[in-house]
Amino acid sequence: MSAIADLDVFRKALEQQRRELSDGIKASQAEAQAIISASADGHPVDFNHPADMIEGDADFAKFLELGRRQKAELLLVDQAIERLRAGDFGSCDKCGDDIAPARLRAVPYAKYCLNCQERADQAAKATARPESRERRTNF
Ligand SMILES: [Zn+2]
Repeated sequence: MSAIADLDVFRKALEQQRRELSDGIKASQAEAQAIISASADGHPVDFNHPADMIEGDADFAKFLELGRRQKAELLLVDQAIERLRAGDFGSCDKCGDDIAPARLRAVPYAKYCLNCQERADQAAKATARPESRERRTNF
């Protein structure tokens, strides 16, 4: 349980973020789809495909990458909303300490306290390759 009093503020911020991300993903998909439809073979967009599916199309790659990032962020937002429901919003997922309110205001979907986040970032850097491959298949 966390000692955060203004849960409603975070709930609203997260729900707002969720809507924006959903719209953003739809827009990225539509943009990527439009580029693909305009191409010779007109495949439907498959985000699991590498961006070089259309050789040298920088716009397609851009929207594909944007969509991936939006999806990854949406997942974090969903998890945060889940933690709100479960009543453990604001506690670090790793060490259980309270996440600093200033950090939550900046990043409402923060999962870890600053210490654990830094450690997780370092670990992610060390295993950057397998992790980026995993993100790609999860999209
Ligand atoms: Zn922690």
